[in-house]
Amino acid sequence: MTQPPLLIAVDVGGTTTAGGAVTSTGEVVLEERIPTRRDGPGRAVGVIEELIEHLRTAATRLGHPIRGIGVGVPGAVDTVTGRVTADVVHVPELAGVALAAMLERRFGLPVFVDNDVNALALAEWTFGLARGARSLVVLAAGTGFGAGIVLNGRLVRGAGGYGGELGHTPVKFDGPRCFCGGRGCGALYASGRGIADAARARVAGHPDAALQRAAGGDLLAITAPLVFQVAAEGDPIAVAIVDEACQAMGAIIGVVVNGLNPEVVIITGGVVASLAPLETRILKAASEYALPQALAQTRVTIVPSDKRVTMRGAAALVLYEMGKEESR
Ligand SMILES: [Zn+2]
Repeated sequence: MTQPPLLIAVDVGGTTTAGGAVTSTGEVVLEERIPTRRDGPGRAVGVIEELIEHLRTAATRLGHPIRGIGVGVPGAVDTVTGRVTADVVHVPELAGVALAAMLERRFGLPVFVDNDVNALALAEWTFGLARGARSLVVLAAGTGFGAGIVLNGRLVRGAGGYGGELGHTPVKFDGPRCFCGGRGCGALYASGRGIADAARARVAGHPDAALQRAAGGDLLAITAPLVFQVAAEGDPIAVAIVDEACQAMGAIIGVVVNGLNPEVVIITGGVVASLAPLETRILKAASEYALPQALAQTRVTIVPSDKRVTMRGAAALVLYEMGKEESR
């Protein structure tokens, strides 16, 4: 019996690279993960190729034809050339690499490469919570803060692959320098890195502060989840940082709703397990910044992050790009 065709989907992360063989309805048939740094720093391309090779061999053995390969990377991608830009902080060896062309040569299959949050948006749009919507914005608050935008049935990538950098919209115009080089960005307040940095700055030199004690006196052990935990215990410094995170998230939702008026906004990412109990406060903050009539037409949902969703997004990317080619 002929088996259904599969898409090979890869999500490249700073820590783990997850791959799968996925059906066109999003069902994961095969799955494998390899630590991105398994072969040492600078060797991620070899890990990606090995993962694809394993999945292709296993899928072929089961009798499935392979339609194409999708790869999500944690940075901006010029999808016209399939080249990763210089902005790929967590896997720096991919900077400037023409990954799509390289993998096409190696595997002889169509290959599509895009930013991982764009892949995540395509996953929610194709298989997930935003199925059937014409417009969608995914806000992904992890270590950094990314976003993926689908408008009128098209992914919005911008001129050079930077479309969707909504974490770096300023929410405080006279705010401090951001790690992106800008000022007062939302990511300073609502990303894991921003929350941890803010907490460290406020308790440095105060060994009796609750956050320092909870981290065993080690400033570097202060992480965003720890800040949320200490805030839940009532510490005023941690409470203030969490308040700012909710307010910044509300302001970013305001930018999205007023600027794009999408049908669906999905908030996800590693920080979201911590943000989920704060949903009411985030929505209240959003109502302070968004136009009420626009916000009323947007469904805002907060969901915990799941690496599998991003991986399936790389499969959705292949379907999206091949669908565009077929409709030409
Ligand atoms: Zn920034």
